Amino acid sequence: MNKAENKLIIIVAPSGAGKSTLIKKIHKDFEAIKESVSFTTRKMRPGDIEGVSYFFISKEEFQEKIKNDDFLEWAQVHSNYYGTSKSFIKKQLDIGHTILLDIDTQGADALKNIYHDRAKAIFICPPSIEELEKRLVFRGSDSIEIIKERINNAKKELLKKDCYDYLVVNDNLETAYDKLKIIITEILHKK
Ligand code: ADP
Ligand code: 5GP
Repeated sequence: MNKAENKLIIIVAPSGAGKSTLIKKIHKDFEAIKESVSFTTRKMRPGDIEGVSYFFISKEEFQEKIKNDDFLEWAQVHSNYYGTSKSFIKKQLDIGHTILLDIDTQGADALKNIYHDRAKAIFICPPSIEELEKRLVFRGSDSIEIIKERINNAKKELLKKDCYDYLVVNDNLETAYDKLKIIITEILHKK
């Protein structure tokens, strides 16, 4: 549908805000945008696909990759490690693709420092912490302990919601997606 340009679109959101749901819709409408596949040490969840959701590796393998300077950025999130592959991003940008990244606030800050205005960060915000907790419980993919950890993390991440290029509140899914679609179209067409 849209001709991809050589940019990075970073989607930042607390876990449970609806980021994956919105990203699935983006892929349907913007087929030319490539998504970065990160490396992680977290355990696979039901529905995860190796090499699509993430490359799932051990802590030792992750340390080795840090040593080899394989990551553009990496961070510890919810007790696990996550890292963006330097070679993937370089290759896709060289081809001329726009890349979509689903990373946390630390990763977004790191990539903005590297790519400046070429990287645009969109913060997806839940309507409230109570609604966020409901969504995480409803999703049913995490234990109560993990949900508590994610909620605590979300409170910290929400303090940074106005620090990015765009903010979308995911209250009603269709309204939020309409807003996101307008933002992405604008990013793709801006010089
Ligand atoms: P994230 O990727 O940010 O962790 P998900 O996309 O997995 O979040 O969404 C968390 C849960 O909330 C899922 O069960 C999803 O279906 C649901 N959800 C997403 N957006 C909305 C919305 N606008 N209203 C209600 N539920 C939503
Ligand atoms: P999840 O385990 O729910 O898939 O992801 C947990 C968090 O890690 C999310 O906020 C997600 O955006 C973030 N994340 C995923 N990949 C990366 C990455 O490569 N770098 C950073 N900094 N965060 C990531």
